[in-house]
Amino acid sequence: MLDDPELVEDAGAGIGNGAAAERAWSDAAERAAAAFDALPDPYLAARAADVRAVGDQVLRVLVGGAADIPDDHADGPPAVLVAADLTPARAAALDPARVAAVVLAGGSPTAHSAILLRARGVPAVLGAGAQVLEVPDGTLIALDGTTGELVVDPAPDTVAVFRERAAAQAVRDREARERSAAPAVTRDGVTVLVGANVGSPAEATAAVAGGADLVGLVRTEFLFLGRAAAPDVDEQEAAYRAVAIALGGKRITLRTLDVGGDKPLPYLPLPAEANPFLGLRGIRLATAFPDLLADQLLAAVRVAHDAPVSLMFPMVTTLDELVVARRALDAAIAREGRGTPPGLEVGIMVEVPAAALKAAAFVPHVDFFSIGTNDLTQYALAAERGNPAVAALADPLDPGVLRLVDAVCRAAGERVLVAVCGEAAADPLAAELLVGLGVRELSVAPPAVAGVKQAVRDVDAARAAARATAALTASGPADVRH
Ligand code: PEP
Ligand code: MG
Repeated sequence: MLDDPELVEDAGAGIGNGAAAERAWSDAAERAAAAFDALPDPYLAARAADVRAVGDQVLRVLVGGAADIPDDHADGPPAVLVAADLTPARAAALDPARVAAVVLAGGSPTAHSAILLRARGVPAVLGAGAQVLEVPDGTLIALDGTTGELVVDPAPDTVAVFRERAAAQAVRDREARERSAAPAVTRDGVTVLVGANVGSPAEATAAVAGGADLVGLVRTEFLFLGRAAAPDVDEQEAAYRAVAIALGGKRITLRTLDVGGDKPLPYLPLPAEANPFLGLRGIRLATAFPDLLADQLLAAVRVAHDAPVSLMFPMVTTLDELVVARRALDAAIAREGRGTPPGLEVGIMVEVPAAALKAAAFVPHVDFFSIGTNDLTQYALAAERGNPAVAALADPLDPGVLRLVDAVCRAAGERVLVAVCGEAAADPLAAELLVGLGVRELSVAPPAVAGVKQAVRDVDAARAAARATAALTASGPADVRH
């Protein structure tokens, strides 16, 4: 956004007219935000918040402090940040040394800002409701990012309970960290790969340090977001290569561009959509812009000649889409002219319920399935992932969602590996059921890798299979947990 010449010129003109830089900048940013506000499409109009967030960041630098927390806390102990919502950019920029936890009135656990907070190991409670914004500064808050519990001004015995829980968790974390490099094998000898989901080479380094067996998902869109033009082949190659180098020979799973939905791209002329999550996103968008896909596949193929690369396509709904995508991949391999890279594997993300139910049709054309439970859950339960009003509905442990996972595992057979890379994979209870259904790879936020490995070690795969079978006929998510 800061490369936008109109915005910069507007601020410059303000200064030329005698305004202070801060005033001129703030007015220019507000005018740009207001232009978004005025758009008829509510989804695009909501992007005004992103413009204001960037405007605020620059303003904070101009006035001499880049702090996200009020300055009176600057040297104090880490604090709990309470806010209406956070943009993914703000979530990614928070300093975990100063922010002990985040409480958001809005959002939901699978919104992208939540995913970024988790990737940085910041405990968070989302969708807490507008009343949290009334909590006065300096109030004591007890929260548990695992369960979503939040107690404002807790009684001393409640504080003691939370502190005990935190201490017990710290012990478990330490044990898990000590064993993080070892493979995750269930009590009865089933090996489950535990990978990391990353959005940058820095996160890939964190993933390896955390004990990841592989990177199960590279969200490549983070290279495409927040800029004025798409990265070219060389830039993409360098970025994917950096992830591969960080992994030191372990497999990386590159997901082709997954924008649209809650991740619009400023430089793609997309039509306004009433329901962006049901619109031109994932593979649909990639096939609508074949040059973009061709460049990305070429970059991936180049890296795949030097490192083990899995390539997967997001949001696949029909076999035709996969056939088109595979043709584009063949074209990229031909364009590079060195034959098929030896370690290249190809798969699809299973995020659309229809794709889960007809998984058998895809089996001859893939090496693996990676189930994106964030999207699969929102589509199966018709509950949008970023909408706090329906966050409680969007539960990946709903038996309806588990049946879709089961359908994929049954169809996959022996040859095709089934992975889960949605947030559910990091929940120990869900992980047990997923392993019971036949999932053999769990890919999670880097800080969660060691804990998930430890959870797998506690699983008895045979008992998990029996529990999973029972879960399929449970009456609802509470019954499944019970
Ligand atoms: C998912 O949908 O579960 C997933 C892993 O993809 P994303 O969260 O990036 O949509
Ligand atoms: Mg998804």
